[in-house]
Amino acid sequence: MLKLEKISKVYSTGYKKVQALQDISVEFRKSEFVCILGPSGCGKTTLLNLIGGLDRYTTGDMQIDRVSTRKYKPRDWDSYRNHTVGFVFQNYHLIPHQSVLSNVEMALILSGMKKNEAQKRAAKVLTALGLGNQLEKKPAELSGGQMQRVAIARALVNSPGILLADEPTGALDSETSIQIMDILAEVAKKRLVIMVTHNPELAQKYATRIIRILDGKIVSDTRPVTEEERNKAKKTRDFSARGKTSMSFFAALGLSFSNLLTKKGRSLLTAFAGSIGIIGIALILSLSNGARNFISQVQQNTLSGYPLVIEQDTSGLSGVVNNLMTQTENAQGDYSEAPSIVYNFASSIKEASSGKVDLSGLKKFVETDKELQTHISAVAYDYGLNLDIYAKDPNGEIVFSDILSMLKTDYQNLLETRYGKIFFDLLNTQTWKELLPGENGELIHDIILDQYDVVYGRWPEASDEVMLFVGKDNTISDTLLYSIGLKSRAELSGVLTASFHRESL
Ligand code: ADP
Ligand code: MG
Repeated sequence: MLKLEKISKVYSTGYKKVQALQDISVEFRKSEFVCILGPSGCGKTTLLNLIGGLDRYTTGDMQIDRVSTRKYKPRDWDSYRNHTVGFVFQNYHLIPHQSVLSNVEMALILSGMKKNEAQKRAAKVLTALGLGNQLEKKPAELSGGQMQRVAIARALVNSPGILLADEPTGALDSETSIQIMDILAEVAKKRLVIMVTHNPELAQKYATRIIRILDGKIVSDTRPVTEEERNKAKKTRDFSARGKTSMSFFAALGLSFSNLLTKKGRSLLTAFAGSIGIIGIALILSLSNGARNFISQVQQNTLSGYPLVIEQDTSGLSGVVNNLMTQTENAQGDYSEAPSIVYNFASSIKEASSGKVDLSGLKKFVETDKELQTHISAVAYDYGLNLDIYAKDPNGEIVFSDILSMLKTDYQNLLETRYGKIFFDLLNTQTWKELLPGENGELIHDIILDQYDVVYGRWPEASDEVMLFVGKDNTISDTLLYSIGLKSRAELSGVLTASFHRESL
Protein backbone atom coordinates (compact mmCIF):
# COMPACT_ATOMS: atom_id res chain seq x y z
CA MET A 1 0.00 0.00 0.00
CA LEU A 2 1.03 3.57 -0.58
CA LYS A 3 0.48 5.83 2.37
CA LEU A 4 0.82 9.59 2.69
CA GLU A 5 0.94 10.93 6.21
CA LYS A 6 0.42 14.61 6.86
CA ILE A 7 2.32 15.56 3.73
CA SER A 8 2.89 19.27 3.25
CA LYS A 9 4.69 21.02 0.48
CA VAL A 10 5.89 24.59 0.56
CA TYR A 11 7.48 26.20 -2.46
CA SER A 12 9.80 29.10 -1.76
CA THR A 13 10.32 31.49 -4.60
CA GLY A 14 12.36 34.47 -3.58
CA TYR A 15 10.96 35.84 -0.37
CA LYS A 16 7.53 34.45 -1.06
CA LYS A 17 6.33 31.07 0.14
CA VAL A 18 3.52 29.08 -1.42
CA GLN A 19 1.89 26.33 0.57
CA ALA A 20 0.93 24.00 -2.25
CA LEU A 21 -0.17 21.09 -0.06
CA GLN A 22 -1.17 20.99 3.57
CA ASP A 23 -1.45 17.92 5.79
CA ILE A 24 -2.40 15.46 3.10
CA SER A 25 -3.11 12.05 4.62
CA VAL A 26 -4.33 9.33 2.31
CA GLU A 27 -3.74 5.67 1.51
CA PHE A 28 -3.92 3.99 -1.85
CA ARG A 29 -4.80 0.38 -2.63
CA LYS A 30 -2.72 -1.94 -4.72
CA SER A 31 -5.17 -1.59 -7.56
CA GLU A 32 -7.79 1.06 -8.01
CA PHE A 33 -8.60 3.93 -10.32
CA VAL A 34 -8.31 7.14 -8.35
CA CYS A 35 -9.30 10.43 -9.93
CA ILE A 36 -8.12 13.61 -8.31
CA LEU A 37 -10.37 16.58 -8.96
CA GLY A 38 -9.90 20.18 -8.03
CA PRO A 39 -9.62 23.66 -9.50
CA SER A 40 -6.46 24.85 -11.17
CA GLY A 41 -3.72 25.71 -8.71
CA CYS A 42 -5.10 23.62 -5.85
CA GLY A 43 -2.06 21.34 -5.75
CA LYS A 44 -2.97 18.35 -7.94
CA THR A 45 0.21 18.29 -9.97
CA THR A 46 2.30 18.87 -6.86
CA LEU A 47 0.65 15.88 -5.20
CA LEU A 48 1.23 13.68 -8.22
CA ASN A 49 4.87 14.73 -8.47
CA LEU A 50 5.43 13.95 -4.80
CA ILE A 51 3.83 10.53 -5.16
CA GLY A 52 5.97 9.89 -8.23
CA GLY A 53 9.17 10.93 -6.52
CA LEU A 54 9.74 13.79 -8.96
CA ASP A 55 9.64 16.28 -6.14
CA ARG A 56 10.17 16.17 -2.36
CA TYR A 57 7.65 16.83 0.37
CA THR A 58 8.53 19.50 2.89
CA THR A 59 7.10 17.74 5.96
CA GLY A 60 5.22 14.54 6.66
CA ASP A 61 6.01 11.09 5.34
CA MET A 62 5.22 8.85 2.44
CA GLN A 63 5.37 5.13 3.10
CA ILE A 64 5.78 2.50 0.43
CA ASP A 65 4.69 -0.88 1.77
CA ARG A 66 5.09 0.43 5.30
CA VAL A 67 8.62 1.66 4.68
CA SER A 68 9.17 5.35 5.27
CA THR A 69 10.72 7.34 2.43
CA ARG A 70 11.99 9.97 4.81
CA LYS A 71 15.49 8.56 4.71
CA TYR A 72 15.44 7.77 1.00
CA LYS A 73 18.67 8.61 -0.77
CA PRO A 74 18.65 9.91 -4.34
CA ARG A 75 19.37 6.42 -5.66
CA ASP A 76 16.42 4.98 -3.74
CA TRP A 77 14.20 7.53 -5.44
CA ASP A 78 15.79 6.64 -8.79
CA SER A 79 14.97 3.05 -8.28
CA TYR A 80 11.43 3.85 -7.18
CA ARG A 81 10.82 6.05 -10.20
CA ASN A 82 12.28 3.53 -12.56
CA HIS A 83 10.60 0.41 -11.36
CA THR A 84 7.54 1.40 -9.43
CA VAL A 85 5.96 4.35 -11.18
CA GLY A 86 5.07 5.32 -14.71
CA PHE A 87 4.06 8.82 -15.77
CA VAL A 88 1.68 10.10 -18.38
CA PHE A 89 1.46 13.81 -19.03
CA GLN A 90 -1.05 16.00 -20.77
CA ASN A 91 1.43 16.94 -23.48
CA TYR A 92 2.69 13.39 -24.08
CA HIS A 93 6.35 14.38 -23.84
CA LEU A 94 7.44 12.07 -26.60
CA ILE A 95 10.79 12.57 -28.25
CA PRO A 96 9.80 14.06 -31.60
CA HIS A 97 12.51 12.68 -33.84
CA GLN A 98 12.47 9.16 -32.48
CA SER A 99 10.09 6.54 -33.79
CA VAL A 100 7.15 5.36 -31.73
CA LEU A 101 9.00 2.14 -31.04
CA SER A 102 12.20 3.88 -29.91
CA ASN A 103 10.25 6.16 -27.63
CA VAL A 104 8.86 3.19 -25.74
CA GLU A 105 11.94 1.00 -25.99
CA MET A 106 14.05 3.67 -24.38
CA ALA A 107 12.29 3.34 -21.03
CA LEU A 108 13.49 -0.29 -20.97
CA ILE A 109 17.01 0.37 -22.14
CA LEU A 110 17.28 2.93 -19.37
CA SER A 111 16.49 0.27 -16.84
CA GLY A 112 19.22 -1.93 -18.20
CA MET A 113 17.48 -4.21 -20.69
CA LYS A 114 19.26 -5.34 -23.84
CA LYS A 115 18.25 -3.64 -27.05
CA ASN A 116 16.57 -6.53 -28.88
CA GLU A 117 14.71 -7.71 -25.82
CA ALA A 118 13.59 -4.15 -25.15
CA GLN A 119 12.42 -3.83 -28.71
CA LYS A 120 10.33 -6.97 -28.53
CA ARG A 121 8.70 -5.98 -25.32
CA ALA A 122 8.02 -2.42 -26.46
CA ALA A 123 6.42 -3.69 -29.65
CA LYS A 124 4.24 -6.03 -27.64
CA VAL A 125 2.92 -3.32 -25.35
CA LEU A 126 2.35 -0.96 -28.29
CA THR A 127 0.46 -3.66 -30.13
CA ALA A 128 -1.70 -4.30 -27.11
CA LEU A 129 -2.60 -0.62 -27.19
CA GLY A 130 -3.59 -0.80 -30.83
CA LEU A 131 -0.47 0.78 -32.24
CA GLY A 132 1.07 -2.33 -33.80
CA ASN A 133 1.06 -0.78 -37.26
CA GLN A 134 2.47 2.58 -36.20
CA LEU A 135 5.80 1.46 -34.76
CA GLU A 136 8.04 3.23 -37.23
CA LYS A 137 6.11 6.47 -37.37
CA LYS A 138 7.30 9.65 -35.74
CA PRO A 139 5.09 11.17 -33.04
CA ALA A 140 4.14 14.11 -35.26
CA GLU A 141 2.54 11.73 -37.72
CA LEU A 142 0.11 10.50 -35.08
CA SER A 143 -3.12 11.92 -33.74
CA GLY A 144 -3.33 13.23 -30.18
CA GLY A 145 -5.03 10.09 -28.97
CA GLN A 146 -2.39 7.90 -30.59
CA MET A 147 0.42 9.96 -29.09
CA GLN A 148 -1.16 9.61 -25.67
CA ARG A 149 -1.37 5.85 -26.20
CA VAL A 150 2.34 5.80 -27.02
CA ALA A 151 2.97 7.72 -23.81
CA ILE A 152 0.88 5.20 -21.89
CA ALA A 153 2.80 2.34 -23.51
CA ARG A 154 6.04 3.99 -22.45
CA ALA A 155 4.78 4.38 -18.91
CA LEU A 156 3.59 0.77 -18.73
CA VAL A 157 6.40 -1.03 -20.49
CA ASN A 158 8.42 -1.36 -17.28
CA SER A 159 5.35 -2.90 -15.61
CA PRO A 160 5.24 -0.34 -12.83
CA GLY A 161 2.84 -0.89 -9.95
CA ILE A 162 1.68 2.70 -10.05
CA LEU A 163 0.59 4.73 -13.05
CA LEU A 164 0.38 8.47 -12.54
CA ALA A 165 -1.41 10.59 -15.10
CA ASP A 166 -1.59 14.37 -15.02
CA GLU A 167 -4.57 15.49 -17.08
CA PRO A 168 -3.88 12.89 -19.76
CA THR A 169 -7.03 13.78 -21.64
CA GLY A 170 -6.60 17.52 -21.24
CA ALA A 171 -5.56 18.01 -24.85
CA LEU A 172 -7.93 15.49 -26.40
CA ASP A 173 -11.47 15.67 -27.74
CA SER A 174 -14.17 13.85 -25.83
CA GLU A 175 -14.31 10.79 -28.05
CA THR A 176 -10.55 10.23 -27.87
CA SER A 177 -10.63 10.95 -24.14
CA ILE A 178 -13.01 8.04 -23.71
CA GLN A 179 -10.58 5.70 -25.46
CA ILE A 180 -7.81 6.78 -23.13
CA MET A 181 -10.05 6.41 -20.09
CA ASP A 182 -11.00 2.90 -21.19
CA ILE A 183 -7.33 1.99 -21.36
CA LEU A 184 -6.58 3.51 -17.97
CA ALA A 185 -9.56 1.73 -16.42
CA GLU A 186 -8.26 -1.55 -17.83
CA VAL A 187 -4.80 -0.83 -16.44
CA ALA A 188 -6.32 -0.03 -13.06
CA LYS A 189 -7.67 -3.56 -12.73
CA LYS A 190 -4.20 -4.71 -11.83
CA ARG A 191 -2.46 -1.53 -10.79
CA LEU A 192 -2.86 1.65 -8.89
CA VAL A 193 -3.79 4.41 -11.32
CA ILE A 194 -3.90 7.94 -9.99
CA MET A 195 -5.15 10.44 -12.48
CA VAL A 196 -5.55 14.18 -12.20
CA THR A 197 -8.37 15.63 -14.23
CA HIS A 198 -10.43 18.73 -14.75
CA ASN A 199 -13.31 16.71 -16.04
CA PRO A 200 -15.74 15.55 -13.32
CA GLU A 201 -17.92 13.60 -15.78
CA LEU A 202 -15.04 11.41 -16.92
CA ALA A 203 -14.05 10.91 -13.28
CA GLN A 204 -17.59 9.93 -12.28
CA LYS A 205 -17.85 7.49 -15.11
CA TYR A 206 -14.52 5.70 -14.84
CA ALA A 207 -12.94 6.17 -11.44
CA THR A 208 -13.44 3.73 -8.62
CA ARG A 209 -12.59 6.48 -6.21
CA ILE A 210 -12.69 10.27 -6.40
CA ILE A 211 -10.60 12.55 -4.23
CA ARG A 212 -11.32 16.24 -4.27
CA ILE A 213 -8.69 18.81 -3.40
CA LEU A 214 -9.14 22.44 -2.57
CA ASP A 215 -6.36 24.86 -1.60
CA GLY A 216 -3.88 22.09 -0.93
CA LYS A 217 -6.18 20.03 1.27
CA ILE A 218 -8.27 16.94 0.66
CA VAL A 219 -11.90 17.93 1.05
CA SER A 220 -13.53 14.64 0.14
CA ASP A 221 -12.69 11.04 -0.63
CA THR A 222 -15.37 8.70 -1.93
CA ARG A 223 -13.67 5.48 -0.94
CA PRO A 224 -11.01 5.76 1.77
CA VAL A 225 -9.11 2.64 2.76
CA THR A 226 -10.86 0.84 5.65
CA GLU A 227 -9.28 -0.47 8.83
CA GLU A 228 -10.02 -4.00 7.65
CA GLU A 229 -8.23 -3.49 4.33
CA ARG A 230 -5.33 -1.92 6.12
CA ASN A 231 -4.92 -4.99 8.36
CA LYS A 232 -5.20 -7.29 5.41
CA ALA A 233 -2.47 -5.44 3.55
CA LYS A 234 -0.14 -5.58 6.49
CA LYS A 235 2.16 -8.17 5.04
CA THR A 236 1.87 -7.53 1.33
CA ARG A 237 4.56 -5.95 -0.78
CA ASP A 238 2.65 -4.10 -3.43
CA PHE A 239 5.01 -1.45 -4.67
CA SER A 240 8.43 -2.08 -3.21
CA ALA A 241 11.19 -1.37 -5.66
CA ARG A 242 12.58 -4.40 -7.38
CA GLY A 243 15.99 -3.40 -8.53
CA LYS A 244 18.50 -0.72 -9.18
CA THR A 245 18.65 1.51 -12.16
CA SER A 246 21.36 0.05 -14.23
CA MET A 247 22.90 1.83 -17.06
CA SER A 248 26.49 2.51 -17.83
CA PHE A 249 27.72 6.02 -18.09
CA PHE A 250 28.56 5.59 -21.73
CA ALA A 251 25.26 4.09 -22.60
CA ALA A 252 23.63 7.10 -21.07
CA LEU A 253 26.03 9.38 -22.83
CA GLY A 254 25.30 7.84 -26.18
CA LEU A 255 21.62 7.92 -25.54
CA SER A 256 21.30 11.45 -24.40
CA PHE A 257 23.35 12.73 -27.29
CA SER A 258 21.69 10.72 -29.98
CA ASN A 259 18.36 11.76 -28.58
CA LEU A 260 19.08 15.38 -28.33
CA LEU A 261 21.41 16.09 -31.19
CA THR A 262 19.96 14.86 -34.39
CA LYS A 263 20.23 17.96 -36.42
CA LYS A 264 23.89 18.55 -36.95
CA GLY A 265 24.95 21.84 -38.27
CA ARG A 266 24.82 25.48 -37.75
CA SER A 267 21.56 25.94 -35.95
CA LEU A 268 21.48 27.78 -32.71
CA LEU A 269 19.48 24.93 -31.33
CA THR A 270 22.42 22.58 -31.61
CA ALA A 271 24.50 24.74 -29.37
CA PHE A 272 21.83 24.75 -26.74
CA ALA A 273 21.05 21.10 -27.13
CA GLY A 274 24.72 20.41 -26.63
CA SER A 275 24.68 22.03 -23.26
CA ILE A 276 21.41 20.39 -22.43
CA GLY A 277 22.98 17.08 -23.40
CA ILE A 278 25.38 17.45 -20.54
CA ILE A 279 22.55 18.02 -18.12
CA GLY A 280 20.76 15.20 -19.86
CA ILE A 281 23.38 12.64 -19.00
CA ALA A 282 23.13 13.24 -15.31
CA LEU A 283 19.39 13.26 -15.45
CA ILE A 284 18.88 10.35 -17.74
CA LEU A 285 21.07 8.32 -15.46
CA SER A 286 18.84 9.12 -12.57
CA LEU A 287 15.37 9.37 -14.04
CA SER A 288 13.58 7.73 -16.83
CA ASN A 289 10.26 9.20 -17.78
CA GLY A 290 10.51 12.29 -15.70
CA ALA A 291 13.83 13.25 -17.21
CA ARG A 292 12.46 13.83 -20.63
CA ASN A 293 9.85 16.06 -19.19
CA PHE A 294 12.50 17.97 -17.36
CA ILE A 295 14.85 18.22 -20.30
CA SER A 296 12.17 19.54 -22.56
CA GLN A 297 11.43 22.05 -19.85
CA VAL A 298 15.07 23.15 -19.75
CA GLN A 299 15.08 23.36 -23.49
CA GLN A 300 11.98 25.48 -23.44
CA ASN A 301 13.29 27.77 -20.74
CA THR A 302 16.53 28.32 -22.57
CA LEU A 303 14.86 29.00 -25.85
CA SER A 304 12.25 31.40 -24.62
CA GLY A 305 15.13 33.53 -23.40
CA TYR A 306 16.75 33.38 -26.81
CA PRO A 307 14.02 33.16 -29.39
CA LEU A 308 14.94 32.90 -33.02
CA VAL A 309 13.91 36.09 -34.73
CA ILE A 310 13.27 36.30 -38.44
CA GLU A 311 12.89 39.74 -39.87
CA GLN A 312 11.64 41.07 -43.13
CA ASP A 313 14.90 42.79 -44.01
CA THR A 314 18.01 40.72 -44.05
CA SER A 315 20.05 43.36 -42.33
CA GLY A 316 22.52 41.28 -40.46
CA LEU A 317 26.01 42.37 -39.72
CA SER A 318 26.68 38.84 -38.57
CA GLY A 319 26.10 37.60 -42.10
CA VAL A 320 28.64 40.04 -43.40
CA VAL A 321 31.18 39.10 -40.77
CA ASN A 322 30.60 35.40 -41.34
CA ASN A 323 31.03 35.84 -45.00
CA LEU A 324 34.23 37.74 -44.55
CA MET A 325 35.56 35.14 -42.16
CA THR A 326 34.84 32.14 -44.35
CA GLN A 327 36.33 33.94 -47.30
CA THR A 328 39.48 34.60 -45.36
CA GLU A 329 39.67 31.01 -44.22
CA ASN A 330 39.23 29.68 -47.72
CA ALA A 331 41.74 32.10 -49.04
CA GLN A 332 44.48 30.92 -46.77
CA GLY A 333 46.87 28.41 -48.20
CA ASP A 334 45.55 28.63 -51.70
CA TYR A 335 47.21 31.59 -53.30
CA SER A 336 46.62 30.70 -56.89
CA GLU A 337 42.85 30.67 -56.70
CA ALA A 338 42.07 32.94 -53.83
CA PRO A 339 38.59 34.40 -54.30
CA SER A 340 38.32 38.10 -54.26
CA ILE A 341 37.71 38.90 -50.65
CA VAL A 342 36.96 42.52 -51.34
CA TYR A 343 34.39 41.71 -53.97
CA ASN A 344 32.62 39.17 -51.81
CA PHE A 345 32.68 41.41 -48.81
CA ALA A 346 31.18 44.22 -50.77
CA SER A 347 28.48 42.04 -52.24
CA SER A 348 27.59 40.56 -48.89
CA ILE A 349 27.18 44.02 -47.47
CA LYS A 350 24.98 44.86 -50.37
CA GLU A 351 22.92 41.74 -49.82
CA ALA A 352 22.74 42.42 -46.14
CA SER A 353 21.26 45.81 -46.60
CA SER A 354 18.96 45.24 -49.50
CA GLY A 355 17.59 41.74 -49.17
CA LYS A 356 14.00 40.98 -48.35
CA VAL A 357 12.78 37.72 -46.92
CA ASP A 358 9.82 36.08 -48.57
CA LEU A 359 7.73 36.34 -45.44
CA SER A 360 4.47 34.93 -46.70
CA GLY A 361 6.23 31.83 -47.99
CA LEU A 362 8.07 31.53 -44.72
CA LYS A 363 4.91 31.93 -42.70
CA LYS A 364 3.26 29.19 -44.66
CA PHE A 365 6.26 26.94 -44.12
CA VAL A 366 6.35 27.65 -40.38
CA GLU A 367 2.67 26.87 -40.05
CA THR A 368 2.52 23.75 -42.15
CA ASP A 369 5.84 21.94 -41.93
CA LYS A 370 5.28 18.99 -39.65
CA GLU A 371 8.89 18.32 -38.82
CA LEU A 372 9.41 21.94 -37.90
CA GLN A 373 6.34 21.95 -35.67
CA THR A 374 7.91 19.40 -33.39
CA HIS A 375 10.81 21.73 -32.66
CA ILE A 376 8.85 24.89 -32.10
CA SER A 377 7.35 25.93 -28.80
CA ALA A 378 5.77 29.14 -29.92
CA VAL A 379 5.55 31.46 -32.87
CA ALA A 380 4.68 35.12 -32.65
CA TYR A 381 4.24 37.63 -35.43
CA ASP A 382 4.68 41.31 -35.09
CA TYR A 383 4.32 44.04 -37.62
CA GLY A 384 7.14 46.27 -36.51
CA LEU A 385 4.79 48.80 -35.04
CA ASN A 386 6.34 50.64 -32.16
CA LEU A 387 4.30 52.07 -29.38
CA ASP A 388 4.87 55.74 -28.79
CA ILE A 389 4.90 55.94 -25.06
CA TYR A 390 5.87 58.96 -23.06
CA ALA A 391 6.66 59.31 -19.41
CA LYS A 392 6.91 62.23 -17.10
CA ASP A 393 10.20 62.07 -15.26
CA PRO A 394 10.67 63.23 -11.64
CA ASN A 395 11.71 66.66 -12.86
CA GLY A 396 8.45 67.02 -14.71
CA GLU A 397 10.09 66.66 -18.12
CA ILE A 398 8.12 64.65 -20.67
CA VAL A 399 10.42 62.01 -22.09
CA PHE A 400 10.01 59.44 -24.79
CA SER A 401 9.85 56.23 -22.88
CA ASP A 402 12.71 54.44 -24.54
CA ILE A 403 16.36 54.68 -23.68
CA LEU A 404 17.32 54.21 -27.30
CA SER A 405 15.69 57.39 -28.45
CA MET A 406 17.36 59.24 -25.62
CA LEU A 407 20.74 57.93 -26.73
CA LYS A 408 19.92 58.91 -30.27
CA THR A 409 19.07 62.50 -29.53
CA ASP A 410 21.85 63.11 -27.05
CA TYR A 411 24.70 60.89 -28.15
CA GLN A 412 24.17 59.92 -31.76
CA ASN A 413 27.33 61.60 -32.99
CA LEU A 414 29.49 60.37 -30.20
CA LEU A 415 28.32 56.78 -30.44
CA GLU A 416 28.38 56.53 -34.19
CA THR A 417 31.84 58.02 -34.45
CA ARG A 418 33.07 55.56 -31.92
CA TYR A 419 31.23 52.42 -32.93
CA GLY A 420 30.23 53.10 -36.48
CA LYS A 421 26.94 53.85 -38.17
CA ILE A 422 25.76 50.35 -37.48
CA PHE A 423 25.62 51.01 -33.74
CA PHE A 424 21.95 51.85 -33.45
CA ASP A 425 20.94 48.99 -35.71
CA LEU A 426 22.67 46.49 -33.50
CA LEU A 427 21.26 47.79 -30.27
CA ASN A 428 17.99 46.20 -29.52
CA THR A 429 16.78 47.69 -26.33
CA GLN A 430 13.10 47.59 -26.81
CA THR A 431 11.47 48.59 -23.58
CA TRP A 432 7.91 47.80 -24.51
CA LYS A 433 7.22 44.38 -25.89
CA GLU A 434 4.12 42.50 -26.74
CA LEU A 435 3.76 39.42 -24.56
CA LEU A 436 4.04 36.17 -26.43
CA PRO A 437 0.41 35.34 -27.18
CA GLY A 438 -0.90 31.87 -26.40
CA GLU A 439 -2.35 29.30 -28.72
CA ASN A 440 -6.07 29.14 -29.47
CA GLY A 441 -6.55 32.80 -28.81
CA GLU A 442 -5.24 32.79 -25.27
CA LEU A 443 -3.83 36.07 -24.13
CA ILE A 444 -0.48 34.86 -22.82
CA HIS A 445 1.60 31.88 -23.85
CA ASP A 446 2.16 29.10 -21.35
CA ILE A 447 5.90 29.54 -21.72
CA ILE A 448 5.61 32.96 -20.12
CA LEU A 449 3.15 31.78 -17.48
CA ASP A 450 5.44 28.90 -16.57
CA GLN A 451 8.53 30.99 -16.20
CA TYR A 452 7.46 34.01 -14.30
CA ASP A 453 5.81 34.49 -10.97
CA VAL A 454 3.50 37.34 -10.23
CA VAL A 455 5.21 39.27 -7.47
CA TYR A 456 2.57 41.91 -7.21
CA GLY A 457 -0.83 42.39 -8.80
CA ARG A 458 -2.07 39.80 -11.29
CA TRP A 459 -1.55 38.56 -14.83
CA PRO A 460 -3.07 40.77 -17.53
CA GLU A 461 -6.59 39.84 -18.49
CA ALA A 462 -7.02 42.12 -21.46
CA SER A 463 -4.78 43.12 -24.30
CA ASP A 464 -4.50 46.74 -23.19
CA GLU A 465 -2.89 45.97 -19.85
CA VAL A 466 0.81 46.16 -19.08
CA MET A 467 3.19 44.19 -16.90
CA LEU A 468 6.52 45.17 -15.49
CA PHE A 469 9.08 42.38 -15.60
CA VAL A 470 11.62 42.47 -12.83
CA GLY A 471 14.90 40.60 -12.60
CA LYS A 472 15.73 37.56 -10.52
CA ASP A 473 16.01 39.41 -7.23
CA ASN A 474 13.19 41.78 -8.07
CA THR A 475 15.62 44.21 -9.62
CA ILE A 476 14.59 46.93 -12.05
CA SER A 477 17.25 48.35 -14.34
CA ASP A 478 17.89 52.08 -14.51
CA THR A 479 16.88 52.16 -18.15
CA LEU A 480 13.53 50.71 -17.20
CA LEU A 481 13.15 53.15 -14.33
CA TYR A 482 13.79 55.86 -16.88
CA SER A 483 11.16 54.43 -19.17
CA ILE A 484 8.47 54.53 -16.54
CA GLY A 485 9.41 57.99 -15.39
CA LEU A 486 10.99 57.12 -12.06
CA LYS A 487 14.51 58.21 -12.96
CA SER A 488 15.11 61.58 -14.50
CA ARG A 489 16.62 62.11 -17.88
CA ALA A 490 19.13 64.47 -16.32
CA GLU A 491 20.37 61.80 -13.94
CA LEU A 492 20.78 59.15 -16.61
CA SER A 493 22.41 61.63 -18.94
CA GLY A 494 24.84 62.51 -16.16
CA VAL A 495 25.83 58.88 -15.73
CA LEU A 496 26.32 58.40 -19.45
CA THR A 497 28.31 61.57 -19.97
CA ALA A 498 30.53 60.74 -17.03
CA SER A 499 31.25 57.29 -18.30
CA PHE A 500 31.92 58.41 -21.87
CA HIS A 501 34.38 60.97 -20.58
CA ARG A 502 36.15 58.51 -18.37
CA GLU A 503 36.51 56.16 -21.29
CA SER A 504 38.00 58.73 -23.58
CA LEU A 505 40.63 59.79 -21.08
P1 ADP B 1 -2.69 22.20 -10.02
O1 ADP B 1 -1.95 21.09 -10.68
O2 ADP B 1 -3.79 21.74 -9.14
O3 ADP B 1 -3.17 23.23 -10.99
P2 ADP B 1 -0.13 22.83 -8.84
O4 ADP B 1 0.16 21.62 -8.03
O5 ADP B 1 0.57 22.94 -10.14
O6 ADP B 1 -1.69 22.96 -9.05
O7 ADP B 1 0.21 24.12 -7.98
C1 ADP B 1 -0.24 24.32 -6.66
C2 ADP B 1 0.28 25.64 -6.14
O8 ADP B 1 1.69 25.56 -5.98
C3 ADP B 1 0.02 26.81 -7.06
O9 ADP B 1 -0.25 27.93 -6.25
C4 ADP B 1 1.31 26.98 -7.79
O10 ADP B 1 1.48 28.31 -8.17
C5 ADP B 1 2.33 26.55 -6.76
N1 ADP B 1 3.50 25.94 -7.39
C6 ADP B 1 3.53 24.81 -8.13
N2 ADP B 1 4.79 24.52 -8.53
C7 ADP B 1 5.57 25.50 -8.03
C8 ADP B 1 6.99 25.77 -8.08
N3 ADP B 1 7.83 24.97 -8.70
N4 ADP B 1 7.43 26.88 -7.44
C9 ADP B 1 6.58 27.68 -6.79
N5 ADP B 1 5.26 27.49 -6.69
C10 ADP B 1 4.75 26.41 -7.29
MG1 MG C 1 -1.59 20.74 -12.76
